[in-house]
Amino acid sequence: MVEYDLELNKICKIINKKKYKRIMVQIPEGLKIYHEKIVSTIENETEAVVILSGSPCYGACDIVENDADFLVHFGHSMIKKPSIPYFFAECRANIDVLEVVKKSVGYLEKNVGVLTTVQHVHKINEVKRILERNGKNVFVGKGGKRVKYPGQVLGCDFSSALSIRDKVDNYLYVGSGNFHPLGVSLATRKKVVVADPYSNEIRETEKLKEKILRQRYAAIELAKHGERFGIIVGEKIGQKRFKLAKKLKMMLEKEGENASLILLNEIKPEYLLYLKYDCFVCTACPRIAIDDYSMYERPMLTPVEVEIVLGKRRFEDYVFDEIKDEEKRT
Ligand code: SF4
Repeated sequence: MVEYDLELNKICKIINKKKYKRIMVQIPEGLKIYHEKIVSTIENETEAVVILSGSPCYGACDIVENDADFLVHFGHSMIKKPSIPYFFAECRANIDVLEVVKKSVGYLEKNVGVLTTVQHVHKINEVKRILERNGKNVFVGKGGKRVKYPGQVLGCDFSSALSIRDKVDNYLYVGSGNFHPLGVSLATRKKVVVADPYSNEIRETEKLKEKILRQRYAAIELAKHGERFGIIVGEKIGQKRFKLAKKLKMMLEKEGENASLILLNEIKPEYLLYLKYDCFVCTACPRIAIDDYSMYERPMLTPVEVEIVLGKRRFEDYVFDEIKDEEKRT
C-alpha cells in the first residue's frame, strides 16, 4: 500500500507550541481513508479538538476555516493564504517512480519537460538524472504563483509546462490520472507521455484527447442552439472568478443571448435541475465541465468554449480552461 507523509508529528508540535484549541482538518477524497489516524493522533497528542471537514475537497482552492483557530489542509500545496494560521501537509507519496520512468525512456524524444503533482515533486531530481543518463535533455519549468514547485502542475494550471514549451519536444508526466497530461497536451500542443507509478504503466494521451475533444465539440454544438446561459460562479476561495463571469455575461449579451450569474459552492447536477437555462458555463473548477460531462442533462461549458460558441475562437485552438494568477476573484 502506498504511504503518504502526513507530517503528524510536525502538526502536533505546532499545535502544542501555539496552544491552538480548535483545529479544522481538510482531507481530499483520495486521502480520507486516513481520517481516523489524523484525527486521533492530533486529539491524543494535543489539547485541541479537531473539526473534520466532511465536505469533498479537491484542491487547495477550497479552504474551510469557520471559527477554527488553526487549519490543517492535507494533500495539496497552498494556492491562496488562509486568513487563520495554517499548515499544508502536502503528503509526499513514498512510492517508487524510478522503475516506471526507466520504462518511459523509449517513448520519449530528445528534449523532455518533466511534470508531476505535489505528491512526487521530491522525486524530480532523480527522474531528471535517469532521463539524462539515457541521453535526454531534461527541462523542469517554473510555473506561476499558484504552483509552489518547479515542474508541478495543477488541473487548472499548466504554467510550468508552458514556461519550457519552446525548449522541449515532448513532456513526461509522472503521476496518476489523465486530466493533467491532457491539459498540458492541449495547452502546449506537444506530446505528453504518462509514467504512472501506481499502475507501473506508460500511457500516451492522444486517443483520449481525441475522445474528449469529440465530447467537447458535441457540447459546444448543442450550446450554439441555446438562448439562455447560466454562468456559474464558484464560492470556493481559489475558484471564485466573478470578473471572468461578468465578462462572459457581457460577451453573450452583446451577441443577443440571455445570460445570468449563479453562485454555487458545490456544483452538482441536482442543484441545476430546476434552473431554466439551455446551457451552463462553469467559471469555478475547470475540471467540472470535462470530468463530469456525462452527469449533466444540459451542456456544461468552460469559459474557453463560450468563445468558440460565439465564433471568437476556432475549435482548432481549443484549450482547457486555466485559472490565471492575475485573475481577480471579486
Ligand atoms: S480549481 Fe479544480 S483543478 Fe484547480 S486546484 Fe481547485 S480542484 Fe484542482
